[in-house]
Amino acid sequence: MRTPILAANWKMHKTVAEAEEFLNAFLPSLPADGEPEVVICPPYTALAPVVELCKGGPVRVAAQNMHEERSGAYTGEVSAPMLLELGVQGVVLGHSERRKLFGETDEALARKVPAALAAGLEPILCVGEDEGQRDADETAAILTRQIDADLADVPGEDLERVVIAYEPVWAIGTGRTASPEQAQEAAALIRERLAARDSSAAERVRILYGGSVKPENASELMRQPDADGALVGGASLEAQDFAAIVRAAGSE
Ligand code: PEP
Repeated sequence: MRTPILAANWKMHKTVAEAEEFLNAFLPSLPADGEPEVVICPPYTALAPVVELCKGGPVRVAAQNMHEERSGAYTGEVSAPMLLELGVQGVVLGHSERRKLFGETDEALARKVPAALAAGLEPILCVGEDEGQRDADETAAILTRQIDADLADVPGEDLERVVIAYEPVWAIGTGRTASPEQAQEAAALIRERLAARDSSAAERVRILYGGSVKPENASELMRQPDADGALVGGASLEAQDFAAIVRAAGSE
């Protein structure tokens, strides 16, 4: 009943020319029925041309970050109205690389998520524990803290408009994928936490798994009852690989 989402996080990869080359190979390979939903998250510089190339088709385009204010003295930042003007429909928020390398905080995310929703952008909120936290058996506590803090100002009935990506930090870009059981356990915990605020919204919210998803492991990960797709980094850079992952999701 929840339509799966396959999101491609290109990080700081692909010039405009490379993005065009990818889409020319990828778009014709998409299933005709529009399932699963596909979201491409290019760097800012490629957003407008990717929106243009995806126009009229099933693929949506999301940014990889945004500032919570609409405008202001925030050098180097980009706001929701600026993204909307380009035809962007969503935004990744709280990716672990932003949290770790660029000081993204739960306080900022608590403002960014409602700002994205208010502007009409679909937020893809990333949460996840690092290796030390998993080893110390703190995964549940970390996920609970992030979900509670980052979504604190989203009204219960709006929670279903947020897409959550469970991304264990130790699995991102490492080739080490969470086991299907670990992915399911975390997704179920997130859904349960959301259900405490609004049970029907929690049933509808899409929870993605992210962390070294490849064509070979996608199908098993997405077969889990609480996993509604994937956020894919490295394997989304090659059109053939990402198309294979989309097909794997469609067959579940
Ligand atoms: C990501 O960047 O969100 C990600 C999951 O990367 P990778 O698939 O390369 O692990």
